[in-house]
Amino acid sequence: MELNTAAARDASRQPSARDLEVLSRQLGRPVRDVVEIPARCVCGNPLVAATAPRLANGTPFPTTYYLTHPVITSAVSRLEAAGVMTEMNEQLAGNIELANAYRSAHEAYLAARAAIGERSGIGAVPEIDGISAGGMPTRVKCLHVLVGHSLAAGPGVNPLGDQAISAISEWWTTDRCYCEGAWDTTGEAPARDLSRHGPQGLPDIVGRPAPVRKTSGTAEAGK
Ligand SMILES: [Zn+2]
Repeated sequence: MELNTAAARDASRQPSARDLEVLSRQLGRPVRDVVEIPARCVCGNPLVAATAPRLANGTPFPTTYYLTHPVITSAVSRLEAAGVMTEMNEQLAGNIELANAYRSAHEAYLAARAAIGERSGIGAVPEIDGISAGGMPTRVKCLHVLVGHSLAAGPGVNPLGDQAISAISEWWTTDRCYCEGAWDTTGEAPARDLSRHGPQGLPDIVGRPAPVRKTSGTAEAGK
């Protein structure tokens, strides 16, 4: 896939029917209100889905970037389980430069969400003005959100998302495909929405366990 021109990037952002099927298989449920694919695996499969800032049912939806790739999701869950968010909150409290950069990441998130709202024809969503996600601008509450943002924005925008991506390099890196065996590719794609929104959209279930992979060994095999 040629990604070096603005037109090619625009084409790559558009979710195809196949992208939507892959997303539903990655998540084990149908996806709704996905308007863009902001980050892809080197093989082309989605890594992150962008949800419209206002859902089709009218609900304002602040959490734009949703990490969908099970290998990355599990790796980030391992970081959370290991207490990395506590360390990051301590870093934020003690490092004014980092705190400022994190606040800038929050502003970048809001600007990117506004741009997605414009491109998807949804326009402004005043109910969520100034509200980003993942604990930004002053706390770290969900690493999946920060990693999703970093993957969508590229390095240098979200310092703590970038840090988390470095910290999972044992399990996942941007330059390699980890898709083989990472989700069930047999049978029908999930067509009934059983769980609505996942942990990144609902703060009360943020602490759910990492998804269990259907086959084992793929991520570890690359070590
Ligand atoms: Zn891949």
